Amino acid sequence: MGRGLWQMLVDFVFPPHCPVCHAYVEHLGAWCPDCMAAAQKPHVILLPAAMQPLIGTAWALGRYHGGLRSLIHALKYKKKRSALPCIATFLRESDFVLPTAIDMAVPVPLHEARYRERGFNQVELIFGAWLEGQGLPLEQALVRTKQTGPLYRMRPSERRQSLKDAFSMARDADVSGKHILLLDDILTTGATLSACAAVLRRAGAARVDVLVFASDHR
Ligand SMILES: [Zn+2]
Repeated sequence: MGRGLWQMLVDFVFPPHCPVCHAYVEHLGAWCPDCMAAAQKPHVILLPAAMQPLIGTAWALGRYHGGLRSLIHALKYKKKRSALPCIATFLRESDFVLPTAIDMAVPVPLHEARYRERGFNQVELIFGAWLEGQGLPLEQALVRTKQTGPLYRMRPSERRQSLKDAFSMARDADVSGKHILLLDDILTTGATLSACAAVLRRAGAARVDVLVFASDHR
């Protein structure tokens, strides 16, 4: 059976639906127009003063609630790769334009143990194909050398302590003089992104901007 015919059969038995309101949609990965319009909220995140020397500009493509929150949850915690076509459509329809000055895109890495447990780094799955389509492939310039507990439950001082020496440069990675786009799925406290940006800047990166899929900042 050809792939096209197979997909028609799958669509007939499991009709694709909008990831938010579950209305039927034309093809796998599509959203209904209303939910897509409501979720598309590209914006600049106002960073706390302590992060400003490390991070140039931080952008988010939408807010961390509703559809984007459930897509990230499905992918990250339930390991449902079936969320990816809807994420890909969201990125494709975003108005966000990658700044041309960026030399290199770097994902926030997972610790090796977490990577083995999850089977993938969700940041690579979210952004990888989209960036490659724009000629900016992801480079694994950072490694995570320490596991941390859930940071959002910690006080700021505990968070800093926990993230101390949690990241380092990958062997052979060269970021000196480069303008880096650091990527993560969400930005909540920004502590993880700051820790990564600090390592990149120490290794000589000229500038570090941040792009996240969703932010819970106002
Ligand atoms: Zn909908």
